[in-house]
Amino acid sequence: AQWVYSFGEGKAEGSADMRNLLGGKGANLAEMSNLGLPVPPGFTVTTELCTYYYANDRKYPDELKTQVDKALAEVERIVGFKFGDAANPLLVSVRSGARASMPGMMDTVLNLGLNDVTVEGLAKRSGDARFAFDSYRRFIQMYSNVVLDVDHHHFEEILDRHKDEKGHSLDTDLTADDWKEVVADYKAEVKHATGKDFPQDPTEQLWGAVGAVFASWMNQRAIVYRRLNEIPESWGTAVNIQAMVFGNMGTDCATGVAFTRDPSTGANEFYGEYLINAQGEDVVAGIRTPQQITIAGKKANHSTLPSMEESMPQTFAELSAIRERLERHFRDVQDIEFTVQSGKLYMLQTRSGKRTTQAALKIAVDMAREGLITEAEAIQRIEPKSLDQILHPTLDPKAARTMLSRGLPASPGAASGKIVFSADKAEDLANKGEAVMLVRIETSPEDIHGMHAAKGILTTRGGMTSHAAVVARGMGRPCVAGAGEIRIDYAAGTLTVGGKQLKEGDTITIDGGTGEIFQGLVPTIEPELSGDFGTLMGWADKMRTMKVRTNAETPLDARTAVTFGAEGIGLCRTEHMFFDADRIIAVREMIMADDEKGRRAALDKILPMQRSDFAELFKIMKGLPVTIRLLDPPLHEFLPHTEAEMAEVAKAAGKDLAFVKGRGAALHESNPMLGHRGCRLGVTYPEIYEMQARAIFEAVAEVKAATGESIEPEVMIPLVATRKELDLLKAVIDRVAKEVEAAKGVSFTYLVGTMIELPRAALQARQIAESAEFFSFGTNDLTQTTFGLSRDDAGSFLQSYIRQGILEEDPFVSLDQDGVGELVQIAAERGRQTRPDIKLGICGEHGGDPSSIAFCQSVGLTYVSCSPYRVPIARLAAAQAAL
Ligand code: PEP
Ligand code: MG
Repeated sequence: AQWVYSFGEGKAEGSADMRNLLGGKGANLAEMSNLGLPVPPGFTVTTELCTYYYANDRKYPDELKTQVDKALAEVERIVGFKFGDAANPLLVSVRSGARASMPGMMDTVLNLGLNDVTVEGLAKRSGDARFAFDSYRRFIQMYSNVVLDVDHHHFEEILDRHKDEKGHSLDTDLTADDWKEVVADYKAEVKHATGKDFPQDPTEQLWGAVGAVFASWMNQRAIVYRRLNEIPESWGTAVNIQAMVFGNMGTDCATGVAFTRDPSTGANEFYGEYLINAQGEDVVAGIRTPQQITIAGKKANHSTLPSMEESMPQTFAELSAIRERLERHFRDVQDIEFTVQSGKLYMLQTRSGKRTTQAALKIAVDMAREGLITEAEAIQRIEPKSLDQILHPTLDPKAARTMLSRGLPASPGAASGKIVFSADKAEDLANKGEAVMLVRIETSPEDIHGMHAAKGILTTRGGMTSHAAVVARGMGRPCVAGAGEIRIDYAAGTLTVGGKQLKEGDTITIDGGTGEIFQGLVPTIEPELSGDFGTLMGWADKMRTMKVRTNAETPLDARTAVTFGAEGIGLCRTEHMFFDADRIIAVREMIMADDEKGRRAALDKILPMQRSDFAELFKIMKGLPVTIRLLDPPLHEFLPHTEAEMAEVAKAAGKDLAFVKGRGAALHESNPMLGHRGCRLGVTYPEIYEMQARAIFEAVAEVKAATGESIEPEVMIPLVATRKELDLLKAVIDRVAKEVEAAKGVSFTYLVGTMIELPRAALQARQIAESAEFFSFGTNDLTQTTFGLSRDDAGSFLQSYIRQGILEEDPFVSLDQDGVGELVQIAAERGRQTRPDIKLGICGEHGGDPSSIAFCQSVGLTYVSCSPYRVPIARLAAAQAAL
């Protein structure tokens, strides 16, 4: 088998469409070589080798060594240096590169091939001993950390000690002789820590680094990143070995990263940062504050340092031309890494650039208008869940605020939370339901879980491409980075700025769109939904075939959903209307009654309130379909809890306290979710559903009289298992409808349908559809009853199931297509056999989950229904499912 693919000299064995085999980095290095761009030569060891390695007890296939030797010889030929050669040593970088980009998640080794002999050769060749020994000490530290597992801080302490002794404050103050001493101490430290000398044989170094990259695929942070980003373990990583070029050989050298368009706003402007006389990760690591690439960027960032456009105009022009070329070629925004060695530009990486949702929308719409992509492609470019980022509130411009400081606007959105200084603490408090703000000097891949748990992230060091910024944008967390005025004292648990000191636990607010940081909580407002968002959603609406409704019962939710584009209400949970302060007493009185007469008396009090609730919803929905579900939960949910509440209910019902307590005990159930709830309430107490039906139809009559609008309500019966339940309750509803028509002198139409949320109902769909005019899949209960898994209790053990790979995802979040999905499919088919035009919807949580929505499309549902904030997500997901 071919395990190794070479690139360089304007050609390559691989190409961009081989990313599964070569990883994203390797495939694109090959593609850039094929395009004739200046890429240092190298080769990629495939992801299949990683898989082989883990499948074969961490061993390599026999033929690998020959293939690597051959590819390395080819690199030597192209650059004219030799690996391990005393006079003209070839140095290489060794980097991981998986199929999906995993920024900073895996390990990299630079300057490999240096040893006590070759470092002298490098010094002579470059005429710069300082540079050579600086490179050697970097290599020893990186290699020891990545391959030999010696922690960074050992090396940092040695370096600090040297600086103190010599009175140096910056790394750049150190001379060649200083670095030689540091190198000697580093090697002693390695010997001390590992019991072995630092490896001098370049070949041994190379295989060590390759093994470490494969090992890093299984390190903790990579595992966490994969879990958060749904990347399968089986994909493996490739290893890229490439001739080194140096950005740290003097002031005509530089290294940088750039985006072909602004990754924050999406503006069609070249955006990037670079550092003169620096190597590799210096820019991304946020150790020095980088300079801007363009003059415009320098202005926008209030930078006082010269831009690359000014300090290296020729190289900048070349880079700009490559920017255009890459964007046309890949038809997407590219995130590039480059190095300038002695005035010559080299491309080290290109990949599709991570961007904020706002930027993604603008870029997709702009590129479609520029003719670079089609409208359908534009739609495919947006991850539906990412819309969350822009649908959420921003700071209320009118709200009072106390500004503390300012940093870089690294990831948009506003967030408030209690200050925490460590990722573990963030996770801990977030699990307890607290809103936290992760405040760090800088973040590293070890902090990922805390970043995920936090509402927002604030760092005091690093640029727009620092770890914190890149990861926060990917996660959709608001982030302010590089707020340099703020001093953090981890030990004391404080942050200090402008003479103020805040402690862990104090609340702050950040605006990731402006970079501002405020003391305390600043109120927020709803987002703007026009512009690029509106345009793209318009394209999506043209392409989708499923309707999108909302689950809503309050006027506020209904209005929000309509502004988000909901095309009706798919689920109005009437019990939610029972809890309002003005009616809970009457509701409790109804529950406490021990006979029909008592219940009817209480229901008479509830009727006018329900009627006006429904009338208001009908008015807001302006003739769009509204599905109203009759009472569903077990009655005991409404019981009074405190002695005072019980006394209140006793008084309203004209009973004594002992009676109320006794009823409470009588209503107790061992398994309420499988007990006296849903249509079983309607069967035993038909007067409840009768009242609700009356409220619905009277509201229809009222709205018709007031606005002339004809409403066709959809009355939905929950938790049906048999056709007979439905028949019985439908008869009640039909009778009430006739009574209301006669009493009000109006006529109207309506539908009666059922939820399908029990396995028996799904199997009996053919029979049930004889009575039901529509089905709505209640996949929350259907998941609960299919798995026999309590939706209220599963949280405590489901994570363990997911970690152990028993389940891929929480089935209450993403539909279990194999099991629950098959029941949905069976019910849809059988329902249609009886009633070919039956309306089929889904109103469980899955109605707002993109992969579940794709499944709904595949079984031919008419609509999905989800919470208001997920309506745009569902519109886009439905369009993608239809394409
Ligand atoms: C369901 O079970 O999926 C459903 C929508 O109803 P509820 O969540 O109210 O039980
Ligand atoms: Mg249900």
